[in-house]
Amino acid sequence: MRTVKFGKLSLPRLGFGSRRLPLNEDGTINSSVVEAMVDYAMEKGINYFNTGYAYHKMKAEGVISKALSKYPRESYFLADSYPGYQSDDGRNPKDIFEEQLEKCGAGYFDFYRLQNVYGKYFEAYSDLNLGIVDYFVKQKEKGRIRHLGFSTYGSPNIISKFLNQFGSVMEFAQIGMNYIDWTLRHVNRKYELLTARNIPIFVIEPMHGGRLTHLPAEDEAVLSFCVPNRTPREISYRWLESFPNVKMIISTMSSFNQLQKDVSLFEKFEKKDRLSHAEIKNVEKFAEHLIKGISCDDCGVCTENCPYSLDIPSIIHLYNDIKFSSLNKAVASAIMLHDRFPGKNLHRCLGCGVCNLLCSRKTDIPKVIFEVREMLDHYPELEDILKVRNGNKDNRTEE
Ligand code: SF4
Ligand code: SF4
Repeated sequence: MRTVKFGKLSLPRLGFGSRRLPLNEDGTINSSVVEAMVDYAMEKGINYFNTGYAYHKMKAEGVISKALSKYPRESYFLADSYPGYQSDDGRNPKDIFEEQLEKCGAGYFDFYRLQNVYGKYFEAYSDLNLGIVDYFVKQKEKGRIRHLGFSTYGSPNIISKFLNQFGSVMEFAQIGMNYIDWTLRHVNRKYELLTARNIPIFVIEPMHGGRLTHLPAEDEAVLSFCVPNRTPREISYRWLESFPNVKMIISTMSSFNQLQKDVSLFEKFEKKDRLSHAEIKNVEKFAEHLIKGISCDDCGVCTENCPYSLDIPSIIHLYNDIKFSSLNKAVASAIMLHDRFPGKNLHRCLGCGVCNLLCSRKTDIPKVIFEVREMLDHYPELEDILKVRNGNKDNRTEE
């Protein structure tokens, strides 16, 4: 397996994610298949295992750790995370961290991240009275955490604020990144921000939740025209590998077959495997084709002149995301990305058309607003949408 330098460590280029492990018919994790996959991964040099407190209804940590228990502790890297919503539950970091250490029985975590850094949970992390970050820094000093970082789907603005406060103790950042989210969810700005701060990036969601490997036939044909002789999966990975600050790509290993395919793509990397500059640009153009969204330059002229100061660029992003993803996912993402719900005041739009007159893209903005309003009208209340994200702990994870 190819490796990448992280300080003095050599990490595998491909990480083993445990967010969607193979299941039994009753929905529980199929531990024997997981064990066989872990053995295969170790044999092939994939020795970075990424888990999280809430994955698989809090069972993934234990299953992965059990599968690893026969290997010498120093032969693998175990990565876990602290769920940002603990402050809602009135639990302190110590309770959760001790529970994780006991469940994993690994003695320490090689990598540990503060999860869910976005508006709401950023407030908890930044509250020095809660002392969350301070607690984990102390665990690092005790050797119970080797490297501390964070994961986020939050806005560049929140990431920046978080790093202003805690950047000196953050060693890595885990973000969702793929060629769709590059512009759809402002990942381009997050990449630039983290790179400028010399924070290495570990990528999750390289396939946009599997969507990029299950393209409709006509889209797959367009993609193979843009980048010939490669599978959609390979193209997604190679596009990510064109970014120097992407250190590791974590794939959620949901089957043995998928693991084998990923191993074959990551074992070797020759000059011919690299995407050319033209192919990289083609992939980004293909993303625009897939999103089929409304273009917006984020100039803000419309908002400045709207009598209700509606945040029209964010509403357009939400519209594009709803069209590409599911309504539910798009709304949850929008809340994290914009630090609030961008559609909150949609009903105030009276269709006066002032924004239309000023938009250099000639977008029919009221039409977009009415359409988003209608889509949201046919959906439960915002609170119900949030319940999917906030009511069920398993779904609260962002990864
Ligand atoms: S049409 Fe709606 S969004 Fe546009 S300026 Fe008027 S009130 Fe604002
Ligand atoms: S005026 Fe048009 S391009 Fe500018 S932010 Fe508004 S919608 Fe986007």
